[in-house]
Amino acid sequence: MDPIWLLLLLPLAAAGGWLMSAHDKSAVSKSSGLPEAYFKGLSFLLNEQPDKALQVFLEVVEVDQETVEMHMALGNLFRRRGEVERATRIHQNLVARSDIDDSLRALALFELAQDYFKAGLFDRAENLFQELQQVSEYQGPAGRFLLQIYDQEKEWRKAIQIAKQLDRLVEQDFAQTIAHYYCELAEKAIAEGGLQDAEARLESAFRHDARCIRAVIQSGRLAAMHGNHTNAIAIWRGLEHWAAQALGEVVGHVSSSYAALNDEHSLQKFLESALEKNADPRIIAMLVELTHKNNGREAGQALMLSLVRKYPSLESMYQLMKSHEQDMTPSRQDKDFSLLADLLAEVVETGRNYHCRQCGFQSNSLHWQCPGCKGWGTAQRQIGNKLTLPPQPLAAG
Ligand SMILES: [Zn+2]
Repeated sequence: MDPIWLLLLLPLAAAGGWLMSAHDKSAVSKSSGLPEAYFKGLSFLLNEQPDKALQVFLEVVEVDQETVEMHMALGNLFRRRGEVERATRIHQNLVARSDIDDSLRALALFELAQDYFKAGLFDRAENLFQELQQVSEYQGPAGRFLLQIYDQEKEWRKAIQIAKQLDRLVEQDFAQTIAHYYCELAEKAIAEGGLQDAEARLESAFRHDARCIRAVIQSGRLAAMHGNHTNAIAIWRGLEHWAAQALGEVVGHVSSSYAALNDEHSLQKFLESALEKNADPRIIAMLVELTHKNNGREAGQALMLSLVRKYPSLESMYQLMKSHEQDMTPSRQDKDFSLLADLLAEVVETGRNYHCRQCGFQSNSLHWQCPGCKGWGTAQRQIGNKLTLPPQPLAAG
């Protein structure tokens, strides 16, 4: 016997007692034979014959409205167990009844909508949740489900509308989420070549969240697309003052725009200044690459070595090994070195550099929406993979 059914024993026993007493008092229910029907249903449940039990319970509902709430509990239990079809039958039966009052009907409708939602029948769920928007006490709860549906279906405009409504209705702050929805719309507009449209979406994003890093990155991209690289760089570099943790995300963009302006000197200055605030391996790698290009391999390697000592991490160590690997001639020792570099590469590339502030989900790339908890803008770059290096030996002589 599935122990979860034991949970039903208590309410059913209580209901049985309640029905017995109602039975004694009411002349109407004397002919219904309800207690027997309930115990028959319970017996089917205990014998793991849920469909037979369901039939008995459905028939009982047909003759006694007072048992609606217990059926609701049974339906919810079915849904929690993943038996959505059975839950749906119970709730559909309740919704179809003409003799239950409005508040119970609304509750049954809310439960049925959740059955559809759980079964992935989003169209049906959406219709019911929308209907429930007309009932004031369900505006918030049904709205939250609608938001999940629109979010999952990538219907950003509808998601914005419902999130704004929820923002007014419930305690939770939806401003950051709304900003991300506008960023999604902007991204779509960019992909379709509608740069002006994208700009308008980003303005809306900033109106909801003036510190939306994603919107900053996109604004810079838009400026660069218009060929205004000076402006693009200024937008991205603005992060240095209030979101230095995100500099690693823009270092590639900044570098491309400085390249378009043919201004390597300013790029060098930017990388040096960024590194003081954020030892992101991408910043380190770019600075080393630039030094290598302008001052030769030895200068690049010397800088790499000093930066690895200053900011030891597996990523920086890997970069260092890679730079040395290019200088090596094939020999036994070099093979060992290559093996170590390959191992390190694997660790670095499969490393989990980002984690979600909300649910702890880890990934090696930045997700604006967490795949784990579906939260927006919750990913944080980890400072993990840090190494502790032994103190540098004093130079002899
Ligand atoms: Zn998460």
